[in-house]
Order: sequence, then C-alpha cells, then structure tokens
Amino acid sequence: MSGFPQFVYRNRALCAESVPLQQIAEEFGTPCYIYSRAALTQAYQAFNTAFSNRDHLICYAVKANSNIAILNLFARLGSGFDIVSGGELQRVIKAGGNPAKIVFSGVGKTAQEMRMALGIGILCFNVESEAELSALNRIAQEMGKIAPVSLRVNPDVDAKTHPYISTGLKENKFGVPADEAIRIYRSAHLYPHVSFTGLDCHIGSQLTELDPFVQASNKMLGLLDQLQAQGLTIHHLDLGGGLGIRYTNETPPSIQNYVAALCAQTAHAKQRLLIEPGRSLVGNAGILLTRVEYLKHTSARNFAIVDAAMNDLMRPSLYDAYHDILPVQTDGAAAQMYHVVGPVCETGDFLGHDRQLALQQGDLLAVMSAGAYGMSMSSNYNTRPRAAEVMVDGDTAHLIRQRETIDQLIATEQIPSEN
Ligand SMILES: *Cc1c(COP(=O)(O)O)cnc(C)c1O
Repeated sequence: MSGFPQFVYRNRALCAESVPLQQIAEEFGTPCYIYSRAALTQAYQAFNTAFSNRDHLICYAVKANSNIAILNLFARLGSGFDIVSGGELQRVIKAGGNPAKIVFSGVGKTAQEMRMALGIGILCFNVESEAELSALNRIAQEMGKIAPVSLRVNPDVDAKTHPYISTGLKENKFGVPADEAIRIYRSAHLYPHVSFTGLDCHIGSQLTELDPFVQASNKMLGLLDQLQAQGLTIHHLDLGGGLGIRYTNETPPSIQNYVAALCAQTAHAKQRLLIEPGRSLVGNAGILLTRVEYLKHTSARNFAIVDAAMNDLMRPSLYDAYHDILPVQTDGAAAQMYHVVGPVCETGDFLGHDRQLALQQGDLLAVMSAGAYGMSMSSNYNTRPRAAEVMVDGDTAHLIRQRETIDQLIATEQIPSEN
C-alpha cells in the first residue's frame, strides 16, 4: 500500500494509474514530475459535488501548479482560477480558461498587470491596500472601464500553520484590517472607476483544522452584514484557499467536511461563494520521480544521493516539509536509514532525512505528494535544467513539459562586447 489511491504497487512495482513508473523513467528520464489525471479530476469533483446546490465558483490557485495541461483540465471541468501575476493570467488564457471566472490576488500588482487583466475582463481584483485601489481606479479610468473589486480583508485569525505560509494574522503583509475595510468600502465614491462586487480573505496554507476557517468566515459574515446595513451590495464572498493535505500523519478535514462547514457557516448569506483551493486540488495528485546516483556510507550517516534536488522540490529545504519517499521497485532487501539528498552544493539540499530504505545505485524513488508547490517553485540553481512533467491518464503517459535544455537556460544571457 502506498497510501495514495492513484499511485499503487502492481507486482511490487509502483505505478501512476496503470503505468509503471519505471517505464516513465525510461521514456522521459529523471528527475520527472508525474501527475495522475484521475486524481486531479477526483479532487475537483469532490469540491464541486460538496457544494451541491449552493451558488459557488471554485477558483483553482494557479501558483500551486501552473502547467497549462493542468489548467486546461481544470478549465474543462468548469473551474475558475485565482492568479497572482500577469504571467499566470496569460497561462490561464492560453490553457482555455474563462476570463469571467478569474480572480486576481496579490499585494503587488503592477500597472501593466492591471491593464492586462482589465483588457481581458476578469471577474474580480482582490485588492489588498488603498494604494492599490487608487492605482486600479486610475488605470480603469484611463481605459474607460470599471474594475470589479473585492477587498482582501485580514481577519486576524491564527491559521496554526508554518509561519511562512500563514497569511491571516494582523502582522502579515496581506489584506486590510477588518475595521479599515468598512471605511474603505464606504469611501467608494472616491473610486468612481471601481465597483465593489465582493469580499475576500485568505488566511494561509496547509491548514489541518477547520476551526480557523470557521473563525475567518464568521468574521467575514459579520463584515458582510455591516456592509449591507450601509446599503452596499456585495455579490460574492471569497473565502480563499488553504485546505491542507496529508503528507505523512496529518489529519486535515476532508474536502467534503471543509466545504460543508463553509456552506453551513454562510448558510444565511445569499452571496455566491468563491473558494481558491490550490494544494488540496493538486498536492496528492503528483509525485517527483528520481534516480539514485550514488550511495555514500560515512561513519555518521548513510546518504542516498539522487538526481532531484532542492531546485526541483524546494519544500523540504524551505519549510522543513516532509514528503514520503517510496521505492519504485520493492524487492525485499534489507533496509537502512538514509538521508536522501540532491547534488546541489548546499547542506540544506535534501528531500528527506532518516528514511528507512533498501537501496542500490540506480534505483528509482518516488517523492510523494509533490503535485503542489513542487514544479511551480522550482529554479535553475546550479544551472540545473528543470524537470520534465508527465500526465498519466489510465495506461497512457503524456509529456506535458519537456525537460529544459542548457541551451534554453543560457539563451537570454550575453557577454558584453569589448570596444
Ligand atoms: C496561495 C493562495 C491560495 C491557495 O492556497 P492553498 O493552500 O494552495 O490552497 C489561495 N488564495 C490566495 C490569495 C493565495 O495566495
């Protein structure tokens, strides 16, 4: 048992759906990200079904994994998108996403990004400060448009997650405080080229309890009541993303229970409900496949040096995050304790510490739950071309991103000419 329904052992060989990972390694090389189309589809359907007859829009948070094949799959399932840059906007459009289902988040939208999004005609800008509101108002005026806006409110609740991915505390850079939000909504007359259509929050990522979501939605409902009492019409309530997944022994709420809790909390509100899930849609649908280059036994430790590194999967180095690491072939040899590390010249370059594995040089390993914030956070550190990406659908493996070449990496660099 792997613990991941779309990645299972058949005849002691780990497979993605029906395709042996060994076969993918031979065809596309390693390191390689592999996604299960069935797992992606099931996660989306779980959200969608849980909303049953509530007016809702699921806006997939593109930054979790922005490959256009994944965006295209979600778009065809009816998903909307939460973007944080003009680049992500272009990806969504290229992938066939519907502009009328796009919300634009982020504290630092540039004038150029605002122009692009206004031109395309997105659903809403999630605005995070008065300075941004003024800028958006001015740009919309220049373009002869009205910009639809939600203020992102910082509800000041503790998401109880890693400090780097906690965003809803008053000391974080995100959103505006609830009391200021009322004043800003009331100052709508100062922004004639903006229309306040929604109300938004997002409190953090990898939350494993319902309570912070419940607290945040309560605060948002209180705010909604106050805004309506002042005669403002708010069309949608956006409760952000953040639902956690199981990497090892976490017990996050199920998608069903999470959505049911949000719907129950907001039952008396007539507004359309938006959510912005990222990790919970893609995290457990992807793995990183890597090959053991060398085994190194020192007096202190055993190291398995693999061909994937912190530039491919940054989460262990950045957040000390845990990912299960499974052997692709299980042959029953004696296991030893290993540090699984990459070739990058940093002690922080590791994929897992203290893993009990039976290994030989050349073996394949699967780093599990790598579908979210894996490829999308990857870099070219150490001039390492980024990994290939493959989407498996039943018994077929589709290449959805070619492995980068060194030529592509240096194509935009140049040596100044001597005079
Ligand atoms: C990152 C982010 C999300 C998605 O968070 P997940 O934890 O991946 O669900 C949603 N909304 C905003 C504004 C974000 O920044």
